[in-house]
Formats: sequence, structure tokens, C-alpha cells
Amino acid sequence: MSRIKVLPPGLQNQIAAGEVVERPSSVVKELVENSLDAGAGSVQVYLEQGGQALVEVIDDGSGMLPREMALAVTRHATSKIFSMQDLTSVQSFGFRGEALPSIASVSRLRLASCVQGQDEGNFLEIMYGDQLQEGPEAMTPSTRVTVKNLLANIPARLKFLKTKSTEGKKCSENFIRLALANLEVELELYSEGRSLYRFFRQESLKDRLLKVWPEQVCRDLKKVELDQGDFRVHGVASSPENAQARGERMLFYVNNRAVKDKTLFSALKQAYKGRLLSREYPQAVIFLELPPEEVDVNVHPAKSEVRFRNERHVFSLVSRAVGKVLDKNYFEVPEMPAGDVDADRKTLGSSYRPCPGLTSPEMPVFREDFRHETAPDYGDRPAKKPAPPAHVPDMGLSYLGQVENSYLVFLNSSGRLLVVDQHGAHERVIFEELKNRQGSVQSRMLAMPIHIELHQAEKSLLEEIWSILRSLGFVLELQGERLLQVKGLPDIVSTGEGVEALRSMLEDKTRDMDGVLIALACRTSIKSGSSMTRDEALGLAHKLMQCKEMNFCPHGRPICMDLGGKELERLFKRR
Ligand code: ADP
Ligand code: MG
Repeated sequence: MSRIKVLPPGLQNQIAAGEVVERPSSVVKELVENSLDAGAGSVQVYLEQGGQALVEVIDDGSGMLPREMALAVTRHATSKIFSMQDLTSVQSFGFRGEALPSIASVSRLRLASCVQGQDEGNFLEIMYGDQLQEGPEAMTPSTRVTVKNLLANIPARLKFLKTKSTEGKKCSENFIRLALANLEVELELYSEGRSLYRFFRQESLKDRLLKVWPEQVCRDLKKVELDQGDFRVHGVASSPENAQARGERMLFYVNNRAVKDKTLFSALKQAYKGRLLSREYPQAVIFLELPPEEVDVNVHPAKSEVRFRNERHVFSLVSRAVGKVLDKNYFEVPEMPAGDVDADRKTLGSSYRPCPGLTSPEMPVFREDFRHETAPDYGDRPAKKPAPPAHVPDMGLSYLGQVENSYLVFLNSSGRLLVVDQHGAHERVIFEELKNRQGSVQSRMLAMPIHIELHQAEKSLLEEIWSILRSLGFVLELQGERLLQVKGLPDIVSTGEGVEALRSMLEDKTRDMDGVLIALACRTSIKSGSSMTRDEALGLAHKLMQCKEMNFCPHGRPICMDLGGKELERLFKRR
């Protein structure tokens, strides 16, 4: 007798169920997808005990004939593909013919269906893989799939289920994910007889989101839209000011199939990079449409993973599509006619560049920089402030004043009130200017080297950023294992600031250029609580306008709040 045997079909199905039917929410997903594939215009889902006792899905789609029903619960029987060629261009959710037989092997499954034009339907009942009964069923044209006692025959798997309310929540999530991508279909979800969600036909994506996300998040969702050749990215993305500390509101669809994908996730994160605090997440629903041959959907039986042929292209497309809508220009720089630009250049001198580094003497950031001297420094220099530019070009901004010596208030040319966080704004300006000046920052040697004691871990951390520090003008020497000698600092920082910046890099475990620049920018920028003159305030605004990113400080905090009529109306409760 051979040691190798073909497993009986029942066992084959149970093994397949291990991947397809992880929990009640997988049943919701598979059944609703079948309804959608059947062309349903209306789908109702009923749950009991988080889906564990009951998941029932009723639809008004194509329906099944009695012999089709028997095939539907047979493994690898599907009406959706017939050849390998079909598989590469599959448009339906299903194609593996595994869901119904898998579910039937681990539950009590009842299929009932009546096709259009018939006045009677049929039913088929299966318990843990064995057929119980079949026969006629009095019903109008529709399909009803009822799944009871899920996983009751597999105690080992049952143990992995969470509480009923957690499982119920996961069912809702899968239901919602499908509802957001099938706006032409009416969908309802009931739990314990109560209606939880009801989505009507012809609602917009935003309408549907309003039923599932907080109003505050939905209020300022931005529309994402980017077409490039055969690729299209569309959907919505929240403004970074509304970011929340929960990561579950990032939904991706590839050719309308809900997927979990690392490339798409990192593309979204990239788009928000620098605009969020470390604990915050974007909120977005992103649809990617691409030719079927550019993506493989047959990666896992649950079909929620995909493989892209060109990941980098997908990454850059999605991050660009989202990044584009997040950019804002509060200042609304008035378009200057060509002649005026030339006049402006003249007043500013020939070295005027639209985004000057610290070397542009007409637009100094600090009162006393560009000395490039290597003279010894015996103590701290006075607090730094952004200096007024020699000539402030017309930015269409009126300066109104400073609140608590911390926030600068302007009125822009379209009559919106701008409140700017002076510290964050100055931080951003210095950050970008340092970045532009990388490698050309002068060192200022100290008359007396300063010593910093190091822990073992700090020493290796320091070694990682050693070359970055050198390129920014730090002159450092290690003495033995535990002592750092600071001999020189970037010319733009005072001794105190430089040493503090070094300490904070060690404390924050800074490992990259941006981290080093953030530490420097943070120490050298004007602090909250320092008074500023009108010219300084306008000078800072002007510098900020020339930054690549003017909306967020390098830590990811917003720099500017802008209030227009609508926002004020809301505050005064007139809306
Ligand atoms: P797949 O969806 O991968 O084809 P399933 O096991 O989910 O596999 O379903 C098997 C077949 O049963 C489908 O191909 C389809 O023909 C039929 N079917 C399942 N659910 C429905 C439904 N709600 N309405 C009509 N036909 C259905
Ligand atoms: Mg299916």
C-alpha cells in the first residue's frame, strides 16, 4: 500500500478553509463579494453574535439553478474564469471557486436561490461538509446564503476567535470596505436584528464615509485624482491638520478590490511625510486602477494581497497623487507681471534667488550671520531672530500683530486671517536653508573645547552620524570611549545652542541627516514667547513663502492656521 494518499474532499476543503475562512468577517467578505459578482443591485447582511452564530447574505443578483448550486459548493468550481488567460485579466472578486466549499466544510451552510422568471427556488443544506438535504423553496427571485455555527466543528480554530463584539466589528469593517467601492449597490448590515449601516444607491464616496468616519475627518477630505497613461489614482485624503492617532482609516483598492499592501501604505505615508507628528496617521481611501497585467491578484486565497509588476512606479504615482492635494499656499502670492519681477530683482541685487540660502545677504535669516569668521567664541550670543529683509516684496499680506509673543497674525490678499506659529515657521526656514547649504557650512572654532560625556550606546550612535555632523560644520574628536570633545560648531549656532543640539540628537537617537537638521533648526530658531517687530514678522513670512514645504515644521506640526469666512461662521455657530 502506498504511504501517499489523496486526502478525502472533505478534509481538502477544511484545509483550504484554514486560509479562506479565518473568522466570521471572512465569511461576510466572501459572501458579499459573491453577491456583487452576481450583479446584485441590493445586498442585505445579517449577523448574530458577531457573525459566529449567523452570517446571512441576501441579494437580488443573477441567482443559481439547482445544478449550479450543487457545483457551487464543489471545490474549484467557478463560473468566473475558464482559462489561464481569463485569470490574468480577471475582473470579478472571486475566481478560485473555494469560498463556498470551504465555508460549507466548517459550518452549517444553507443556499437558497431562485433565478429571474421562476416562481419557485431551490435550497441545498450542508453541515460540516456533508450534504443534509435539498429541495424546492418558496421564494421570489433572489439568493440567500445562510452560515450558522461557524468553526463549531474545529475547536482548535474556534479558540482563536476574539470576543463577539470584536468579531462583529471586523465583520462591519469588511462590509464597509466593500460598500465604499461599490457605490452603485445598495447595502445594509444588521446585527441582532438592528440596522447598523445602510448605504443607498448613488451615494458618493463622501456620503458613505460620512456614515462611518467622524464628521470632523470628513469635513475636509481632499479629492485625489491623477491619471497617467493606463494608470489612474483617485479617492480622498484627509488634510494633515485632521490627522488622528489611529491607523485603521487607510483603505486601498486595486482595480476595485480591497487590498492590504505595503507599497501603497508607504506611498501614502510618503505623501504625508513631514506633515504629521510621529503618533499620527493619515486617513484616506485610495483607488488604484491599472491594466490587469500590471498586477497579480492571485497571491493568497483570501485575495487581499497583490503583487505589482512595477512597485516603484505605483509608489511614486500614489505618493504624488496624494502629495499634490496636500500642498497648500496660505499666502497666495499674487502673480507678478514680468516687468515687476525685473524691478524687484534690481532692488534685491543681482544675487537674488527665489529660494536663497543663508548666503544671500539681501535676505539674511539671522541678524548677525555670514561672518564666516573663525574667531573664538567665549559665550552665548543673544537670542536670534529672523531679520527683516532689506526690501519686503509685496506678498499681499498685512501684518496685524503678535499674540502672546508666540503667534503672528496676518491678513492675506483674499481676506483670510493667517495665524503663524513663529517658532515652527522659523524652524522650517532654518531647516531648509541648512539643507540647501549642506557641505558648505563654515565652522567656528571654540577657544576652549567643550567636553561631553558619552554612554556606550551614545558613542556608536554618534559614529553613525559623524560624517553628517562634519558636513554641517561640527568639529568633534572622540577621546577614548566615553568623552566627546567639541572643538568647533557650525557658524550659525551659538556655543550653547550647538551643544544643546548635540545633546538632543543623542537623546532622540538621531540617525539621519533630517534628524540632525531638525535638532539644529529647533535650537537656533526663535522661541515662543519672544517678541518680534513688524519687519521681523514680515521677513519671516517672506522666508517661509520660499520654502519647499511651508505648511509644516520639520517635526510635522502645522505652521499656519488660516481662517476664512466659513471657519469663522462655524466658530460663531452661524453654521
Ligand atoms: P468563486 O467566487 O471564486 O467563483 P465561490 O465558492 O465563492 O467561488 O462561489 C462558487 C460559484 O457559486 C460562483 O462562481 C458563482 O457561480 C456561484 N455563486 C456563489 N454565490 C452566488 C450568488 N450570491 N449569486 C449567484 N451565484 C453565486
Ligand atoms: Mg466567491
